[in-house]
Amino acid sequence: MQLKGKKVLITGASRGIGKAIALKLAEAGGDIAFTYCGTDLEAVHTTEAALRAFGVRVKSFHADASDFQATHKAVEDMVEAFGGLDVLVNNAGITRDNLLLRMSEADWDAVLNVNLKSVFNTVKASIKTFLKQRSGSIINISSVVGISGHAGQANYAASKAGIIGFTKSIALELGSRKIRANVIAPGFIATAMTDQLEPSLQQEWIEKIPLKRTGLPEDVASCALFLASDASSYITGQVIQVDGGLLT
Ligand code: NAP
Repeated sequence: MQLKGKKVLITGASRGIGKAIALKLAEAGGDIAFTYCGTDLEAVHTTEAALRAFGVRVKSFHADASDFQATHKAVEDMVEAFGGLDVLVNNAGITRDNLLLRMSEADWDAVLNVNLKSVFNTVKASIKTFLKQRSGSIINISSVVGISGHAGQANYAASKAGIIGFTKSIALELGSRKIRANVIAPGFIATAMTDQLEPSLQQEWIEKIPLKRTGLPEDVASCALFLASDASSYITGQVIQVDGGLLT
């Protein structure tokens, strides 16, 4: 139980990669709080029940990750309920893909706000708790697209590249207080986000991946467990690709 007694907050964990991370960290003994923003309460309740089966404390908060005030309230409530915060996972993310010529200002703003501003929001809201404890692990979910760029995803790639710059900066600022900050950059992971792609396009991606399969949410979750636990206590400011070798 590598995370026994650790208090974890994950943004956007009602499904997909966030849910897999929540399950993996609960299995390791962590108490889990998570946020969601959609209206699928059945998914939220199913996730909560699956987490409780590990015998850990569980709390969910309806909070739009792009909303500064709502995020502050969720973090405050979580810290009060659990008595602290040890691991923060910024997972909430969306895509609004289009070629730049056709990309609207609304699609730019939505993606930058949900994917990047959200990371500022949660870290800003939790920083005093981390500083008081003189410990903490911040794990931000970027994407290989934030490293390589991708046609049709200028907004998404910019948000994910921004996460890398942000994380490296706070790793420098907070290292002396034993607060670590790292990035996971997933490649092609099978979730609702990638299900939107045409099957032929999905096949094209698989052919480009040296390990010849799409990643599973659990592949990302295993990396998150490593970064959350003391097994990674000398690692900060790093970007770990979980991409089957896609971007080498
Ligand atoms: P997904 O299946 O679409 O799930 C997205 C999650 O984010 C959901 O739990 C959703 O919760 C939450 N969310 C969306 N907008 C939110 C908001 N405004 N506030 C709070 N939560 C919000 O996507 P996924 O594939 O699991 O992706 C998870 C993360 O991994 C994202 O940051 C994504 O960019 C990144 N990533 C994914 C892939 C991939 O291939 N799938 C690759 C690289 C990086 P609600 O439905 O409750 O709003």
